[in-house]
Amino acid sequence: MDFSLSEDQRTLVAMLRRFIEEKLAPLEETVEREGRLAPEVARDLFEQSKALGFYAMNIPEEFGGGGLSTVDMMLAEEQCVGPQVERWLKPATRGERTCSIAITEPEAGSDAASIRTAATRAGGGWVLDGKKHFISDGLFSDFFVVSAVTDPSAGGRGISLFLVDRDRKGVTIGRDQPMMGLRGTSHVELFFDRVELDDQCLLGEPGRGLGYALDTLGRVRLGQVGARAVGKATKILDLAVGQARERRQFGKAIGEFQLIQKMIADSVIEINAARLLLWNAAAAIDAGRDARALIAMVKVNASETLGRVADRAVQIFGGMGFSRDLPIERYYRDARVYRIFDGTTEIHTAGIARAALKSGGALYDPVEAV
Ligand SMILES: Cc1cc2nc3c(=O)[nH]c(=O)nc-3n(C[C@H](O)[C@H](O)[C@H](O)COP(=O)(O)OP(=O)(O)OC[C@H]3O[C@@H](n4cnc5c(N)ncnc54)[C@H](O)[C@@H]3O)c2cc1C
Repeated sequence: MDFSLSEDQRTLVAMLRRFIEEKLAPLEETVEREGRLAPEVARDLFEQSKALGFYAMNIPEEFGGGGLSTVDMMLAEEQCVGPQVERWLKPATRGERTCSIAITEPEAGSDAASIRTAATRAGGGWVLDGKKHFISDGLFSDFFVVSAVTDPSAGGRGISLFLVDRDRKGVTIGRDQPMMGLRGTSHVELFFDRVELDDQCLLGEPGRGLGYALDTLGRVRLGQVGARAVGKATKILDLAVGQARERRQFGKAIGEFQLIQKMIADSVIEINAARLLLWNAAAAIDAGRDARALIAMVKVNASETLGRVADRAVQIFGGMGFSRDLPIERYYRDARVYRIFDGTTEIHTAGIARAALKSGGALYDPVEAV
């Protein structure tokens, strides 16, 4: 069993790190202060990242993408940490046809089957009514993938997905809902008032919307939540280790105190464990195995690890960790949502338990794994 990186993988990681350090990191303070990036700067970044092959890296080559495997993609996502991707790469794609996933409603979060947004048959098409909230990047998206009830008698099996252009009559982008962190990103309310949709707007088959959303979002979750959480935790620990080496109190570097060492060692152990879980899930996808429970494990483990690592980093930095003069307090705020969005820790934990009760050792005994 070999967990070392190939030459190609090292080159990919090095290229991404260089791009982030040279092009994105210097913009960090501006975005935090102003909450946005000038459109011409965003456009220029987008063109540069595209020229380097960083756009659509996971899409198969025959469709013009980079054709990366899931494991390679996780390596790439891990580098795209923290504010960089959320604040620059995504905003950089403004001007292209970008899209948001719109599932959550004020009354239906974890219980995604209880949505009230509905699409009813009318003529040859559909009429959509309802509202969504917390829709990421919604302020800049050209269209939305919207979940809606199409068969009220069928519960979760009566939900379908629709592609809804933002400029369609009856679509209103509401408030950009203020958040604890993730400055420079938008999370909006959406309102649909008798929006007429033709049949082409229906994604796949009617009634299979929740299944599609779970399958697709599983991969998104692995990359954008799992890998980025591991990457963020790595970066934050790097800063904490640097501080432990340099900061002196009682005539010593604070890294010489065992209580500080314990915080560092716990973070090192947890990050390594989280990364192995992540690579294992990515390899299972590449091998064509059902990775749903593995992805749920990564979601819980990586996001909880990030929370603990960020919390310890604030502690190691002391008052400077709490001060806005350093980015640590921002990393701590930004980390918090990882345990909430894309399915909360509680929801994924319950799913893992259900899977274990159903399939027994297959989830934790490699001899029984299929
Ligand atoms: C920054 C941000 C970005 C987001 N982006 C998007 C997006 O782009 N698209 C989108 O559709 N949604 C998005 N969301 C919504 C997000 O997915 C939901 O917030 C999340 O699924 C939780 O739903 P909720 O907020 O309604 O909480 P609730 O479902 O009300 O949960 C509240 C609490 O109850 C717990 N709970 C609920 N049910 C159970 C249960 N069965 N067992 C144990 N505990 C339970 C939860 O774990 C949580 O602790 C975003 C949210 C945020 C904060």
